[in-house]
Amino acid sequence: MINLESYVAGRWQAGAGRGSELHNPTTGEPIGTTSTDGLDLAGALVYARDRGGPALRAMSFAQRGEVLGRMGKALRAAREELIDASILNAGTTRSDAKFDIDGAIGTLAYYASLGQHLGDRSYAVEGDGVQLTRSPRFWGHHVRVPRRGAAIHINAFNFPAWGLAEKAAVALLAGMPVVSKPASSTALLAFRVMQRLVSAEILPDGALQLVCGGAGDLLEHVGSQDVLAFTGSGSTGVLLRGLRQVVGHSVRVNVEADSLNAAVLTVDADPGSETYAMFIRDVVREMTQKTGQKCTATRRIFVPSAVIDRVEADLREQLAALTVGDPALAETRMGPLATAQQLRDVRAGIARLVEAGARVVHGSAEQVALVGADAARGYFLGPVLLRADSPRDAKAVHEHEVFGPVSSLMPYASSDEAVELVAMGDGGLVASIYGDDRDAIASIVLGIAPYHGRITVGSRKVADQATPPGVVLPSCVHGGPGRAGGGEELGGERGLAFYTQRTAVQGDRALLERILGPF
Ligand code: NAP
Repeated sequence: MINLESYVAGRWQAGAGRGSELHNPTTGEPIGTTSTDGLDLAGALVYARDRGGPALRAMSFAQRGEVLGRMGKALRAAREELIDASILNAGTTRSDAKFDIDGAIGTLAYYASLGQHLGDRSYAVEGDGVQLTRSPRFWGHHVRVPRRGAAIHINAFNFPAWGLAEKAAVALLAGMPVVSKPASSTALLAFRVMQRLVSAEILPDGALQLVCGGAGDLLEHVGSQDVLAFTGSGSTGVLLRGLRQVVGHSVRVNVEADSLNAAVLTVDADPGSETYAMFIRDVVREMTQKTGQKCTATRRIFVPSAVIDRVEADLREQLAALTVGDPALAETRMGPLATAQQLRDVRAGIARLVEAGARVVHGSAEQVALVGADAARGYFLGPVLLRADSPRDAKAVHEHEVFGPVSSLMPYASSDEAVELVAMGDGGLVASIYGDDRDAIASIVLGIAPYHGRITVGSRKVADQATPPGVVLPSCVHGGPGRAGGGEELGGERGLAFYTQRTAVQGDRALLERILGPF
């Protein structure tokens, strides 16, 4: 049994007591504990503000980018060890582990090169400036300077490596020190990532701290220059956003939460076409990758009424061929859910969708055939496809995120109806549209765009080169309105905005150019 310590105030520290237990989801066996009891978490924030902040602000974008590049290299060197930690504590297959870990490394590399691009400055000046009055001397510029507080990152259980790295990369490049907290149940991988980063001695003192275990009183000590970026369930997001200290100090908050991501096959898509094959391939991947525990997983599948039986048959065939079991075995395509609670929640979620009018057309909430694992001990569930023929009536299908390998297939009659049904999800991270008819694609893209942070369009010409909708790329924004939390992360340089204060500076143009330039 390993006891995961926290890295705070420049050293590894163990919390008091046993804290919470971490398990191997394949066998149900306990593998470790983690606790933050007795740790000085207020002190961690002070340490970040007093040590990490000044050190980062003294560096240029290029220097911060160099740090990110070295972080990525340290993780790449530890890749095998990190993959093992993911399989052990999160029940991921090797391929699913790589999705998380390589996502972390890739995001660090992307922001490292953005740092080089932004160059020798330590803050940003937005745009060209503006003449403010009739006099050409009186001028205005908008500068973006790093906030003087700590960036508190609270992450979900499903991406311990990527969640840590993608948030940290942006904050550190912007010049803010980070206090990062992984979800307790799958914290082993984040702990291993931090061990590697600390032993490589890459980061300035206080620039990155890791809190393993419960958040304790951390958020009671937030101040007006701190920011809070949270990823997790909508209910926790609502709770954190409403905390007295957060509201009282106008703490900037970013929430990445639940999402009932939709995939839409347009009316022109001919079964047998490349676009149709891409749609089936993406839906199966998005349902089952990481055992469906991805915020970007496809939860709702909308297809023209005329082809719904064909789509159901094709999806069932693909899902039936998928091997579920011990994630350490090469033949396994899908491992267990991450925790016993997840398994209970997913089973309850399926029951809720059935009660709302959907019926299970593939798989079972209770039984699954496994390779190399015991269903009585591990947290296993096979892929479950539901079908709701009256999608407007099956409200829970649009409202309740079942965070596992579970999706619902539904028919629609026109592009307008597709837009209406997708919008019933009340805000999502990503939607995907598959077709080759420009008019149908245009009306659906523009119709659902207000409800989404990202839309992918799968068509014949990109069928063999597009990234699947579940892949979050650092160059495009990630987040979504409404149910998805109303947040926005990444998006290249756009992501830095959250960690910086935009300040309009007005005055003599020549003076401003001297103190803020060169532009
Ligand atoms: P969760 O239960 O809300 O927990 C998320 C994080 O919040 C964990 O680190 C948890 O710590 C912490 N937390 C819980 N209560 C807290 C409190 N009162 N104060 C401070 N921190 C608190 O969510 P989850 O089960 O880990 O994640 C699943 C959900 O995340 C799904 O709904 C999924 O859609 C969503 N998600 C969204 C995105 C996105 O980018 N939009 C990405 C991934 C996941 P402990 O573990 O220590 O309790």
